[in-house]
Amino acid sequence: MILDCAIIGGGPAGLTAGLYTTRGGLENVTMFERGMPGGQITQSSEIENYPGVTGDITGMDLMMPWPEQCQKFGLKHDMAEVSRISKDGDIFTVTKSDATTIEAHSVIVCTGSSPRRAGFKGEDIFFGKGVSTCATCDGFFYKGKEVAVIGGGDTALEEALYLAKICSKVYLVHRRDSFRAAPNTVKRVKENEKIELILNSVPEEVYGDASGVNGLKVKDKDENIRDITVPGVFTFVGNDVNNQTLIQEDGSFLCDVNEQGQVVVTLSMKTSVPGLYAAGDMRIEAPKQVVSAAGDGAVAALSAISYVDELLG
Ligand code: FAD
Ligand code: NAP
Repeated sequence: MILDCAIIGGGPAGLTAGLYTTRGGLENVTMFERGMPGGQITQSSEIENYPGVTGDITGMDLMMPWPEQCQKFGLKHDMAEVSRISKDGDIFTVTKSDATTIEAHSVIVCTGSSPRRAGFKGEDIFFGKGVSTCATCDGFFYKGKEVAVIGGGDTALEEALYLAKICSKVYLVHRRDSFRAAPNTVKRVKENEKIELILNSVPEEVYGDASGVNGLKVKDKDENIRDITVPGVFTFVGNDVNNQTLIQEDGSFLCDVNEQGQVVVTLSMKTSVPGLYAAGDMRIEAPKQVVSAAGDGAVAALSAISYVDELLG
């Protein structure tokens, strides 16, 4: 059997693609998700910016009903990791990590991205409980409070400026004394009175208790430790796009990707390969939000439906 559509990844983008493809009339649709469906938002202890959802809910609470809703319309879930997507003629081959293969007329890739961890003590323990990689998501929890930001690239400096509008003070901790970020962004950061630069310094340890983070210890070039008492620590030390499934045997990518490995798509989520779509955090210029990932998934599904209808007549 050849699937009408294979969806790779079961976060907000993949689940929404699953809902729209099945409800939109595609018959054989399977979503390949290596873990429990829901995606990275299930790591978040609180989500406040998904439209229409009020009250204290966790990322897990938000995502819980999504798979059931899709399954009602016929989406199948294969709990498997996909290692490669390839195409020969009009047929895609999805290879799973156990080396079994499935063929499909169309593929929607929604494997997301993974924020890099900086690697300091306590970072993993307090991730989602005071250590965050998303200022748009979690900044509001620190309204009127002091926070620390780690990193010296565009993301760290732009997010420090964003946080400075909400928080009483932002400590920007960077391991060098010059920044990778665009000169104008650096200038704005330096001029912002709410941002204190802590340069030539690396995070040593984030500490806290059962209710969250209490502070961050940073170490400078001379090994001096400074203790910053903050309830929130934001790390922006780069992001890895989960694009491994698109890498072919010869090392090339199945479709066009940019310098950061993000998949180049049109506004219809079409990639450079007919029948192949990308949605969510892995695409170019992704806002990296649940609502936009879900929107992308719907758009990609509508494109896939048109493609399969035309292909199969
Ligand atoms: P993901 O959610 O990353 O889902 C990708 C899925 O693909 C994963 O489930 C993964 O297991 C699966 N996968 C990857 N590779 C493979 C493979 N090879 N085979 C099979 N499966 C695979 N956004 C907000 O809007 N509001 C918030 O408050 C918010 N808070 C956040 C808090 C935290 C701590 C984090 C980490 C993120 C937060 N975000 C928030 C961002 C939001 O989670 C992401 O933008 C969104 O989840 C992206 O959805 P996605 O479907 O593109 O990818
Ligand atoms: P990035 O440019 O790779 O910067 C990562 C930063 O984190 C660097 O300053 C790096 O320090 C620091 N770092 C890395 N590992 C660390 C560790 N373990 N501990 C402490 N610090 C660590 O990542 P990014 O800022 O996410 O940007 C990614 C790409 O997107 C870049 O090309 C960027 O220009 C682009 N981007 C553009 C815009 C924009 O155009 N407006 C906005 C956001 C992102 P070093 O500098 O010492 O290496």
